Formats: sequence, C-alpha cells, structure tokens
Amino acid sequence: MEVTAHGGLSRYFGDPEETIMEHTKDHKLLHGTPHDPYLDSQRPAGAAQCPHCTAVYHGGHWHWPDADTAAALPAHTCPACRRIADGAEAGRLVLSGGFVSAHRSEIISLLQHTEAREKSEHPLERLIALRDEGETLIVTTTGTHLANRMGHALEAAWDGTCTYRYNDSEVYLDVTWQRN
Ligand SMILES: [Zn+2]
Repeated sequence: MEVTAHGGLSRYFGDPEETIMEHTKDHKLLHGTPHDPYLDSQRPAGAAQCPHCTAVYHGGHWHWPDADTAAALPAHTCPACRRIADGAEAGRLVLSGGFVSAHRSEIISLLQHTEAREKSEHPLERLIALRDEGETLIVTTTGTHLANRMGHALEAAWDGTCTYRYNDSEVYLDVTWQRN
C-alpha cells in the first residue's frame, strides 16, 4: 500500500487528513508485527553471539553485548549480517531532485546520524549501502524501521515529498523522497 505524506491518502482512508497524518508519523499504528524471513529462519536455539558484529541473541531478541554477556557464546550470524552478506535489503530509499545533488554530503550525514542512533538501540537496523544512480541517491537498509526513520528525518530537516510503500507482507519498505 502507498502512503503519501502530502494529501494522497484520502483514497485509502476516509478519515480527515489530520488524523491520517498523525497515523503516518508512526507506521506501527498501521502495521503489525511482520514475519521477516531473516528473523524467522535460522533462529538460534539459545543464547548466541554474531561473530561478525558482536550482537548477542538472548531472550528472543538481538541486542548489543553488555557487562552481563557471557564470555563465550555459540557463534551465530545475526539476521542483519546475513542480509548484508546476501545483499538482501529490507528497506530502500530513493532520493531524487536537484536538492539531493546540491546537498549530498549534508543528506548523507543526516542518514548516517539516523543510522547511528537507531542502530545503538536496535542492532538489526543498519545502513547497507549508499549509491548514486545519475542524480538519484539510493540507500539500502537491513530493517524497515530504519528506512522509515530516515524518510521522516529527511522530511523533518528539509520537507520535500515523501512516500512510504510497504510490500504485502510488510517486511519490505520502499521510501521515495523528492525535493527540487
Ligand atoms: Zn551480526
């Protein structure tokens, strides 16, 4: 489904636009718990640690190691590192318009800052790659949440026009942001 930040929602929702905008601020309201194949398959049997990024699996979740982390845990590659190795992104942002090339380094710095903040709390939300396609900047992420955050960070910083489109199973998010 497509969610447009600038009034394109009325064809999906009968509510007044104000309510809709409130909902689009937090996609959790619109989307339940997705079934992510990278989370659901190859789940560790017990506590484990990713040999690539040091993330620790414990109590059903991946988190960063802390003082309580056992010195030696069975090695198990985390879903984010598997996505990076497979080139299988969960989120993609396509940034276009003259503003993007004119402010490329500020935009990249905002995206990296957004990743650092998100990743510090959620180890599975990471930036995979930034690449240029002509004047368009393509950004891929290991999690839909980070892609969503990046879209909102761009809108908060520079307005522009942003769309968010989840696939049917809601484990993939396509974001477009455009500013001329
Ligand atoms: Zn890892």
